[in-house]
Order: sequence, then structure tokens, then C-alpha cells
Amino acid sequence: MVIELVKEVQATQTRHILSVLEKEGLTGYLTNAKAIVVPVKEDSDKLRTMLKKVPGVSDVIPIHSRYPLVSREYHPENTVVSVNGHLVGASQPTIMAGPCSVETQESIIDIARGVKKAGGHVLRGGAFKPRSSPYSFQGHGAEGLKMLAEARAETGLPVISEVMSPDTVELVAAYVDILQVGARSMQNYPLLKAVGQSQKPVLLKRGLSATIEEWLLAAEYILGQGNTNVILCERGIRTFENATRNTMDLNAVPVVQKLTHLPVLVDPSHGVGTSEFVPALARAGIAAGAAGVLVEVHSNPAEAWSDGAQTINLTEFQNMAEDISLIYEALAQKYHSAKLVHA
Ligand code: PEP
Ligand code: MN
Repeated sequence: MVIELVKEVQATQTRHILSVLEKEGLTGYLTNAKAIVVPVKEDSDKLRTMLKKVPGVSDVIPIHSRYPLVSREYHPENTVVSVNGHLVGASQPTIMAGPCSVETQESIIDIARGVKKAGGHVLRGGAFKPRSSPYSFQGHGAEGLKMLAEARAETGLPVISEVMSPDTVELVAAYVDILQVGARSMQNYPLLKAVGQSQKPVLLKRGLSATIEEWLLAAEYILGQGNTNVILCERGIRTFENATRNTMDLNAVPVVQKLTHLPVLVDPSHGVGTSEFVPALARAGIAAGAAGVLVEVHSNPAEAWSDGAQTINLTEFQNMAEDISLIYEALAQKYHSAKLVHA
């Protein structure tokens, strides 16, 4: 159940509503989005009618989902996330692209120019890198963020970079336009709360072995702190299959879109793990209804400091970007409205 509060709700009124709930044996969780979430399996008309009369309450909505704020039950319309004016989840597929890690100032500017030329909308690049081995390149940290910001100044492309810990959210948010929460951090609950308190859009990757419900519950943590600008990203899950690095779960695209109003992108680079197959998986993701792609691109993938094997070059990227637009437009034409396919 979601109790929506009046615009000018007083703290005393909120406390009173929580105590009324307590008397009913219920616990309410106050979100910053001016609502109280009450996780209940069942509620009654009588309870809702009583709660509606409590001062400070504007409406009581019977949502029984485990992730009420993220659920389409509560918010039937698609959420469109604005990234410096570029709309994610609107009428064109969003293309986020760039190297796995920010390497040098020259290379990130070079790649950013290529991404822009091919029609990319957002430049990606890791500065704080979650590497499996402590002996692998860990990213340039704050210096990498500065290089990324410089590439934004050169090209005008908004930038996305990963944030790994709650205490660096402020630092990363000062340089980027979208905070990326990586697959390994999907269940870092203090981090989810911290990015939820930020005003920046958040791209939340699916955990390596996370179910769709766990992923949406992770998003609920972010929305619960008042940040509704969340973009989901399917990046492949661990399965028994070892011919590819991961298995990009295309099922997740339509399933998640049925369950939530948040836009979902696919990351075919981590999804399949081999550059040769990346364009096919990008096309498949768009055909399945994804709102866009996040893809690893480098001017010389063989020399990339991380994830070179799954990184495509700028020519391959240009081709991929063209194909994505063709597929998106063909489907939009057939169904007269992109919303029908991508909703
Ligand atoms: C990345 O985008 O470079 C990355 C580390 O992704 P993931 O969290 O999906 O492994
Ligand atoms: Mn990577």
C-alpha cells in the first residue's frame, strides 16, 4: 500500500500517520518522494478509508508489489529520464558508448569524438573499476573523472561513470551526468541509498546472479530515497554456458518492462563478452524493446587497458549504431508508435 502525502505535509502529521499505522500492527516507511510505503500482502477498504481521513494524507493506493515505487501498478506511464536534455526511454534509442576504463586524456577525447560522430548520446568510461583481480588496473579514480569531464567539454556529450562506494558518490556526481551502479554493487545497499539521495540519474546494472525481483528491489532502494531517475541495464547473467562470458538475458527486457515503468537498456559488451558478437546482441536487445544500449568502444580495442576482448572499434560501432536506428524505426513504423513496441 502507498500512502501519498499532501504537498505541504508537516513532520508532526507524518509522525502521526506512522503511529496510526503502528496501532494497526503495520510499519510504514517514509520515502523522500512524499509517500509512505506500507508493505502489506492484503489491505481492506475499511483500513484505506480510515487512513484517507488522517490529516496529511492525500490518497491511499492499494499496491501489493514488493517494490511498490518501481512497480507499474503504482506508476503505469513509462518513466522518461532526462540526461542533460537527452531523453532516455522516449522516441529514440539511447546509445551510451566508450571505453571500459578511462585511460589517457588523448584517448578518451579521441573515442568521444568517434562516439559523437556515429550518433552516440552519452560517453561512458570507468574511473573507479571493480576488477576481479586486485592486480589488474583499478582505474585512475578522481583523475579519470577529470579526463572524462574534459572529453565532455570537448564534445558536449554527457558522461556516465561507475561509483563503487557510498563515500565517493559526491565526488563522482560532481563530474558525471549519470551515476553507474555496477553489477557487483547491485546489492550494496548503503550505496543504493546514497545514490538515491543524489539528484543525478542512476544506471543500475543487474547483478551477476540476481533475479529480476532482486534487481527491481535494488531499484526500490533508490526510489525510496527520492531519486526516480533510474535506468535499468541488463548486462548478462551467470549461467552454465561457458562458450560466452555471460548470457545476456533478453527475456529480462520485456519482462522488466511489464513489471516496471523504468527504462531498461542492454549492455551487449558484458552480456556476451566477445566483440564479434556484440553488434548482434545490441540489435537483439533493441528488437526486444530495450530503450537503448551501453556498449564498450575503443579506437584500438587490442590496446584497451581493460575488457579489450569485448570492445568494438569505432567503425564497428558506427555500423552498430546505424543498425539499431534501422531496427527501432522499422518497428516504430510498423506499430505506428514507438511506445507500442518500446513500452
Ligand atoms: C563496466 O561497465 O565496465 C562494468 C564493470 O560493468 P558490470 O558492472 O556490468 O560488470
Ligand atoms: Mn568493462
